[in-house]
Amino acid sequence: MKITVIESVLKANDAVARTNRRRMDEAKLLAVNIMSAPGSGKTALLEKTIPAFDGHLRSAVLVGDLQTTRDAERLARLTAQTTQINTGQGCHLSAAQVAQGLDSLDLAQIDLLFIENVGNMVCPAGVDLGEHVRVALLSVPEGDDKVAKYPTLFQPADVILLTKVDLLNVLDFDRGRVRDDLSRINTRAPLIELSAKTGQGMDDWLGWLAGRRAERIETAV
Ligand code: MG
Ligand code: ZN
Repeated sequence: MKITVIESVLKANDAVARTNRRRMDEAKLLAVNIMSAPGSGKTALLEKTIPAFDGHLRSAVLVGDLQTTRDAERLARLTAQTTQINTGQGCHLSAAQVAQGLDSLDLAQIDLLFIENVGNMVCPAGVDLGEHVRVALLSVPEGDDKVAKYPTLFQPADVILLTKVDLLNVLDFDRGRVRDDLSRINTRAPLIELSAKTGQGMDDWLGWLAGRRAERIETAV
């Protein structure tokens, strides 16, 4: 019985996600679902990503958090199209919450919509929001064993960002172990080593995003 309930909840979510995807397709924007544990650097990444596209691609952000508007306040300095979604007890964003968030934005004025999911390595990856691409972050301080421990996050990712690599010479972290674990669960997604602090890897990340956005424009015609 329990399984039936969960299935029907997910089915209802998927129907809303399909509607979200259609709306975002029509607006010809690229929707990017960003997932990681709390503190992996999702907001810091966006603080560097959004200005890098200034005058080229227009960004908007939906920020999911249990409480507070702190991340949205940081990002609202960079784009007026920023909406905070407080989930309360909810440990992941749902398609319905994203649908509400979309209502608050002028979709016609957006090229890149970043959806910063609630910090959580487990359930966000199982909930379709209608996004076009999925980004998984793993930060160096979290440890090199996390890909193997949380495969559900890294398996469906379209790109994996190893963040805070400026700490590699301070902490014991085996990059080979991460690549080895990924070779077993996800060989499709590129792994980009990145530091929002030093800028290392930012060009690769920005290039990857611009490429996915260009693909959307082509398929949306
Ligand atoms: Mg954040
Ligand atoms: Zn959850």
